[in-house]
Amino acid sequence: MRCRAVDTQLRFDPGLGEAFWKAVQAIPAFPRGEEVRLRRMIFESNALERLPEILSGAGVQAGAPLLVVMDETSMQRGGDDLKPLALAIVQRAGWSAEAVVVKPDATGQVHTDFGQIDYVQSRLSPGSAVLSVGSGTITDIAKHACHRFEQDTGALIPLVVYQTANSVSAYTSNMAPTFVDGVKHTLSSRYPDALVCDLETLRDAPYAMTAAGVGDLLAAGVSFADWYLAYSLGLDDAYTPLAETLMGPLSETLLYLAEQVRARDLQAMAVLAKLIALAGLSMSLSHATTPLSGFEHVISHVLDMTAEAAPRPLAMHGAQVALAAVRVAASYEVFLRELNPTAIRWEACFPEAAVMRSGVADVFASIDPTGRVAEECWRDFAIKLEAWQGRRADLSACLADWPGIRGELTRRVWPVRTLRRIIRSVGLPEKFEDLVPPIAEVQARQAFLSAHWIRRRFTLGDSLFFLGWDRQALWDRAASSASAPE
Ligand SMILES: [Zn+2]
Repeated sequence: MRCRAVDTQLRFDPGLGEAFWKAVQAIPAFPRGEEVRLRRMIFESNALERLPEILSGAGVQAGAPLLVVMDETSMQRGGDDLKPLALAIVQRAGWSAEAVVVKPDATGQVHTDFGQIDYVQSRLSPGSAVLSVGSGTITDIAKHACHRFEQDTGALIPLVVYQTANSVSAYTSNMAPTFVDGVKHTLSSRYPDALVCDLETLRDAPYAMTAAGVGDLLAAGVSFADWYLAYSLGLDDAYTPLAETLMGPLSETLLYLAEQVRARDLQAMAVLAKLIALAGLSMSLSHATTPLSGFEHVISHVLDMTAEAAPRPLAMHGAQVALAAVRVAASYEVFLRELNPTAIRWEACFPEAAVMRSGVADVFASIDPTGRVAEECWRDFAIKLEAWQGRRADLSACLADWPGIRGELTRRVWPVRTLRRIIRSVGLPEKFEDLVPPIAEVQARQAFLSAHWIRRRFTLGDSLFFLGWDRQALWDRAASSASAPE
């Protein structure tokens, strides 16, 4: 079948430079006075050749030591070995470029943790500059190493991010998801100074990573609703519609784009890279990952924690998130249809902290017998529990206005069939067992049932838990609607 050419027009196109920033700053929800140092984002065929000019534009002085941060993975681009090619291009242009190669840990993968961040930071000196060549993890390590060096020394480190896959929204974000004592935390970090998306590099990236990039965006199918729900319950005053405005009609764009992405069309690579860039900016400008990270991401974090503890490799982030998003969307459909505000058992909705504390300990004992992970999770859960207990009046108001709030939530949750259609057309795994490495259905259910214990963030998962919903039965129904024939 011949694919139609992509003519997807984004309302906010990050490839338009200052015109883009002008349009974004005019959005009423734009945080006033906010300075974003990332001014330049290039989404072009053969952008690789423009690296020297982009480095200069980002303030990298001629002759400055340029550290090129990468991992050991060999990457192909149009039949060439990408990393030596990128190094040769900047060396030829006169930089004393030196590769800084981070090594995998015991799981065989490189993860963002302080071992890696400290290693890169130790290679920096005032006057040096960084070019990261890699996907999300390398970008986060490089970004956070530069950030910490800047914080510690007051010296500015120009950072240019060369994005090697359309995989996650790390490239334009000023946050770094980092493993601290086995638990993933989102740390405040910095923006890069420039982003380079070379369409040939993105086209030739392992396809599973590209599909996962689409998968990560599917979080929006439930996360906008989660954030609105937390806001309605008085549990997140930071809510802003900025991300929803910036991302535009995302489900329609992705339905339209999925097949062209699968065909590795260069223009589709550009549009996907732009959507991913917008996602990173949406979160950064909202000062939280919350707009694009709700219950589905918390489920994914629990799956990652379990894998880290095993230890076994993590499944592809976006592919895992997409499957979790389908289950959460299916759960929302039931919740929105069946919640009966008059049937809430109030006395059971506000449990004692001591009972909750032993609940956390029980759930995480199998992941980490030392109790460190449980302690770490409890710190976040205790904050969430206290906030929830202090908001009885908001719950009452929310239930009194349930038809209105249900309407707002329904408008934000994408239909399960839309999510499944995008997953199928882009070629993402359709079952947890099809992830690499596979995740057993029973393990996914466990993550769904225990996700509320981690993170301060309040999502549908927490509402179901506190309202005493039969979550086992809900998971079974969500599972069957996620696999029902269309
Ligand atoms: Zn994500």
